[in-house]
Amino acid sequence: MPRLATTSIHGGNEKHRVPDVIPPINIATTFRYDDDPEKLRKLEPPTNGEHAVPTDVVYSRLAHPNGEIIEATVGKMTNSYARVYSSGLAAFYAAMTYFNPKRLCIGKGYHGCHGIADILTRNYGLVQLSLSDADLAQLEKGDVVHVETPVNPDSGCFDIEYFAQKAHEKGAFLVVDSTFGPLQDPFAFGADMVMHSATKYFGGHSDLLSGLLLTRSDETYRQLFDDRVYLGTNIGNLEAALLVRSLKTFELRVRQQSTSATKLVKYLHDNMARFPVLTEIYHLSLQKDAFIEKQLKGVHSPTFAIQVTSEDVAKRLPSRLHYFFHATSLGGAESLIEWRCMSDDTALPTLLRVSVGLENVDDLIEDFTQALELSA
Ligand SMILES: *Cc1c(COP(=O)(O)O)cnc(C)c1O
Repeated sequence: MPRLATTSIHGGNEKHRVPDVIPPINIATTFRYDDDPEKLRKLEPPTNGEHAVPTDVVYSRLAHPNGEIIEATVGKMTNSYARVYSSGLAAFYAAMTYFNPKRLCIGKGYHGCHGIADILTRNYGLVQLSLSDADLAQLEKGDVVHVETPVNPDSGCFDIEYFAQKAHEKGAFLVVDSTFGPLQDPFAFGADMVMHSATKYFGGHSDLLSGLLLTRSDETYRQLFDDRVYLGTNIGNLEAALLVRSLKTFELRVRQQSTSATKLVKYLHDNMARFPVLTEIYHLSLQKDAFIEKQLKGVHSPTFAIQVTSEDVAKRLPSRLHYFFHATSLGGAESLIEWRCMSDDTALPTLLRVSVGLENVDDLIEDFTQALELSA
């Protein structure tokens, strides 16, 4: 089996329709049927476990060439079947539509996933429970446990194996939002479905919205295709071309961003006494549980969070940094910092979330140092 950096470049080769090394951007929404009437037949969904046969593209809400390249490539990168969506939330909605649980155990995490759960509660009476043992004990067959790990915004880590066992004991399913742990393999610890906001690390350039659902079941994979056709949530043609570009550097980017984030976190943590405005640093490299090494295999989340002494310091710190844009989101080449309560009303007003990009880490360390000194 070729390894990740190779499959992320070559995993979609058999889906290339022309000899161009970079598959062209396709903007067509519709594709001509065969000119030969003898070859006309009823349409079959383009699903096949092996991703071996280039399938006919018909209408781009169903599938389009770069979307198919993404699915073939990510499938090989993750040793699963991959469906691509127009956003991370479209992927989460597709997972909820597929499993259609009566009860959903969901922990803290991305506010948008809670927003979808609230819509389902409003419309269909979905019962929302926490990830506590008492709530997990209330699960019944066909219900869903949704675990985001590492979790937004502080990159704390949950033990996937533990929640897989709790879900499976009750005949429920475990969905893992692995956006903050782009290189971890939740299937190895019992997850039934994995989602990513591909807007973040898979995309990696802050220039496309997309989501991914991964499954190891061929049957689920087919159903996800049919559902996506009717939910209308396939990735857009142009974004798909950008994502094909992004996949090629996926492992390189994530490893570098993780190494830099861990170095910056260590520096800040070791020097807390020098920076009196800094009261807490949250990152999984500082979390000691034994399962973390097993789950993350040394590749930490490139995102972390800090707590500062006051709301005023939190509000002003971003403007004192030169290499961290003050913006929401994460995963791009440019480092970002966000006064988190601006976009997430569950965040404390003293919390800042940091997404480490691909700049030289020593420049990032110097930048943070001067900004924290100015804030003192
Ligand atoms: C951003 C994000 C999402 C939502 O993804 P979009 O692509 O913005 O729809 C879901 N989960 C996590 C953990 C995220 O960071």
